[in-house]
Order: sequence, then C-alpha cells, then structure tokens
Amino acid sequence: MPFECIQCGECCSHLGLVHSIRQDRGNGRFLLHNQYTGDEQEVVLDSDKADLYADRSTFSREPEACPFFRFNPVDGRGYCTIHLTRPEICRDFSCWRLLILDPAGNRAGRVMFIRTLVTDDPVLRAIWEESLDTIGDAEDAAWDDLMIAAVSRAGYSVRK
Ligand code: SF4
Ligand code: SF4
Repeated sequence: MPFECIQCGECCSHLGLVHSIRQDRGNGRFLLHNQYTGDEQEVVLDSDKADLYADRSTFSREPEACPFFRFNPVDGRGYCTIHLTRPEICRDFSCWRLLILDPAGNRAGRVMFIRTLVTDDPVLRAIWEESLDTIGDAEDAAWDDLMIAAVSRAGYSVRK
C-alpha cells in the first residue's frame, strides 16, 4: 500500500526551525527561506486556506511549527496552507515505511528508515524489542516478514 498521510501534523510541527518567511509579498505570496539549505522560493497560500492561515492558534500548541502549518480547529487535522506550492523537501517526505495499526485500526506506530520504530504504545514497544532479539540479522525482506508476523500475532496489523 502506498504511503498515506493521516494529517497528524507531527512532521510540520517543528519545521519552523527550518522554514521561515523572508518576505510577505502580498496577495498570499511569500518568500520562503530554508535556513539549512539556504534555498528560497516563492510560495502561495492555497485559495481555500486563507482563513486557516489567519488563525494562529496552532503556535500556542506547537511554537516551533512551520509558519505555514495549521491545525484546523474544526476537524483537528493538520494542514499545509501552501500545499500546492510547498517546497520539494515537503513533497518528497514520507514519514513511514511500515505503518502499524492497533486492533481498533488506529495508528500505533511507524517504522521509519530501515528499522526504527516510532511509537507511544508500550505494548507494541515491548513486542518490538523482544522480536528484535528473536529475528536477529535477517536480510531486509525476511526481517520485515518476521516483524510483521510478530506484531500481527499480538493483534496489530501492518500496512506497507
Ligand atoms: S507525513 Fe506523516 S507525520 Fe506528517 S502529517 Fe502525514 S502522517 Fe503525520
Ligand atoms: S511547507 Fe507545508 S508541508 Fe512543508 S513543513 Fe511547512 S506546513 Fe509542512
């Protein structure tokens, strides 16, 4: 299954450390600066997100958020207000390689890079740690199969 963003907003919540607005050019146009690469590009507010952009409540919750990121108070989801013109680095980003869902279908964990688990679920963490010892040094495809089998036995499901 291809990567599917669930708009949790985690990835954009600290990108204010990278992205800044160098210039407000008016009419929803901004010069965005990436402080690590030095890149600058013009970005444009999505036509349906001007009101959302004007709401700055996101920064009380996530003070380091990207200047264009907003949580929508209506649906609670995270939105990029310049989605159509967002930088390449944001277009290329996928935050998981394997997505682990709990028995209720909620996200329980993400496997990033090769074998890094990101989770707040202590049960899943414990299964993962135990399985690491059991699986050992299997090659990547076999390792995935064995880890998926291990978490599936505990009632989780995995999307890849
Ligand atoms: S890319 Fe991942 S971390 Fe970012 S909002 Fe989507 S699901 Fe959340
Ligand atoms: S430009 Fe958009 S996608 Fe990129 S970090 Fe900011 S809010 Fe997130």
